Amino acid sequence: MKKFLSLVLAIAMVMACACFAGCGSKSMTVEEGKLIMVTNAEFPPYEYKEGDSIVGIDAEVAALIAEKLGLELEIADVAFDSIIPGVQSGKYDMGMAGMTVSAERQKKVNFSDSYATGVQVVIVNEGSDIQTIDDLEGKKIGAQQGTTGYIYASKSPENGGYGEENVIGYDSGAVAVEALKGGKVDCVIIDNEPAKAYVKANPGLKILSTEFAVENYAICFAKDNTELQEKVNAALKELIDDGSVKKVIDKYITAE
Ligand code: GLN
Repeated sequence: MKKFLSLVLAIAMVMACACFAGCGSKSMTVEEGKLIMVTNAEFPPYEYKEGDSIVGIDAEVAALIAEKLGLELEIADVAFDSIIPGVQSGKYDMGMAGMTVSAERQKKVNFSDSYATGVQVVIVNEGSDIQTIDDLEGKKIGAQQGTTGYIYASKSPENGGYGEENVIGYDSGAVAVEALKGGKVDCVIIDNEPAKAYVKANPGLKILSTEFAVENYAICFAKDNTELQEKVNAALKELIDDGSVKKVIDKYITAE
């Protein structure tokens, strides 16, 4: 009996060691030597396409981070609501998409320190009877699927939203803005910087002066990849402290 017990113990110990080694040996990046960042390249000026390449604040900050870590940056472009699942499953190393840190998302992924802030604003057609966010009740609201703008707006009125039935989710901010121009929705809730870019590109639209919510943008990682999260945070801190991040932001966002 004693022998049997020690055998069981020995097996248990071997198993524990194997798990320990297996769990600890997860590589820092999906592909050695590469940093695969996933984004949704329809969010100017944070990420958008210029010809075949993806440019913008996130693309440039990611490149600076990769350089510091001695890794080659590769950028993947997917729908916004596929970013978190792709990072969770380990298909990509990190998600960077003007992504707002939220308690809901923190259940699924870990976030880096914040590197920028965003504000949710409301775009309307010039001459709209919507003058402040208090006029949104009963209106048709457009937003990009899966974004915080969509999530806030579709909450019930008791929870500060306008009811899911009043919100239409689109594949991108650009498509939501087209729906606004075509009269399919009465307004679009979106982050301030893309809002400015869309209003600039589409005469006849304006941004309401009342702001909806102020948010922090950060990079997301799989829950078990704290090794990469820590390395990226260290690199990001240096890049923030030496003014590199601000320089990139100032290149794309000119202060009014
Ligand atoms: N900041 C918003 C969010 O995280 C929108 C981001 C985006 O559309 N790329 O939901």
